[in-house]
Amino acid sequence: MGIDDLPIRDELKGKSPYGAPQLDVPVQLNTNENPYPLPEPLVARIAERVAEAARGLNRYPDRDAVELRTELARYLTRTGGHEVALANVWAANGSNEVLQQLLQTFGGPGRTAIGFEPSYSMHALIARGTGTGWISGPRDEDFRVDVAAAVSAIAENAPDVVFVTSPNNPTGTAVEAETVLALHDAAQAARPGAGALVVVDEAYVEFSHRASLLPLIEGRPNLVISRTMSKAFGAAGLRLGYLAAHPAVVDAVQLVRLPYHLSAVTQATALAALEHTDTLLGYVEQLKTERDRLVAELRAIGYEVTESDANFVQFGHFDGAAGSHEAWQKILDRGVLVRDNGVPGWLRVTAGTPEENDAFLDAVRELKKEQD
Ligand code: PMP
Repeated sequence: MGIDDLPIRDELKGKSPYGAPQLDVPVQLNTNENPYPLPEPLVARIAERVAEAARGLNRYPDRDAVELRTELARYLTRTGGHEVALANVWAANGSNEVLQQLLQTFGGPGRTAIGFEPSYSMHALIARGTGTGWISGPRDEDFRVDVAAAVSAIAENAPDVVFVTSPNNPTGTAVEAETVLALHDAAQAARPGAGALVVVDEAYVEFSHRASLLPLIEGRPNLVISRTMSKAFGAAGLRLGYLAAHPAVVDAVQLVRLPYHLSAVTQATALAALEHTDTLLGYVEQLKTERDRLVAELRAIGYEVTESDANFVQFGHFDGAAGSHEAWQKILDRGVLVRDNGVPGWLRVTAGTPEENDAFLDAVRELKKEQD
């Protein structure tokens, strides 16, 4: 008796759930988390805010998360180069839930979404979960979105939803504003009438050398920016993602969101974290320095590295899928867990603390000597 013996939907048969291995090893650099625990004053403030929320847990939380969305709008306005207000912002349990709500609203049975792969594998999985057809679009050999190829894939398939991940996971590659605009315009042209939704997944944008693409939402009601507190805010355990878009998009996702989806505890915790934005962005600066050090040292050791605007680095080049898997195992044998994303010949390492990165660099230095 297994899953496939149950009367599940045909498209789920024989599939496996998303799963980065959660192995208990000394140095875990595999899921692009922030290595720094929240600072103690913030932990104390969370306890205070959550205690306050606990006194009201007999009631449902604020269904519209007004205070939290107002603070998120303030953060975006301050850091994103474009003024947004409460009406432009929506929040959910992790950006995965934001993306799911977008596909429930704009995708679904009989509709399709396109992404340019390799990219964040959950885009395709959420498409599957929402009954949205998935189209795998191309990247060039340097893992950049090839504008001409992407535009023709959009023209050919006329997808309902276009995913652009910038910086991209797992490659770290940022996408130019002009590229996003070209894809946006192609997507609108391919679907005359209401057009198509373009979702720019900026989960890692705080680590980028470039500015956020947030200003692109101006005058483009079909363009959405997706964000998360899992990375830059060091709060992956909180489960808080959000989007910025035209107010009509915010109204639209409310057609599918579950009532009271964002618990009072989550809202209180996220608000406390936002009070400590400056401290948390200080850690982001340290991580950017460490990311750049990883790039430089990996190159000095003799690895190829994909240019990174994120808090992780893609490195290789190993001998195909078997080579990268073997290298993954050998690095793990030295106590360091990195990620094999299934991009043949490449592995991804998350920037950790300086000590964790040293341990990783020692491991790959030994590996290189062994393999040369
Ligand atoms: N988008 C991208 C590109 C990601 O890499 C991730 C997390 N790995 C997410 C979205 C989802 O993050 P969360 O649900 O924790 O906000």
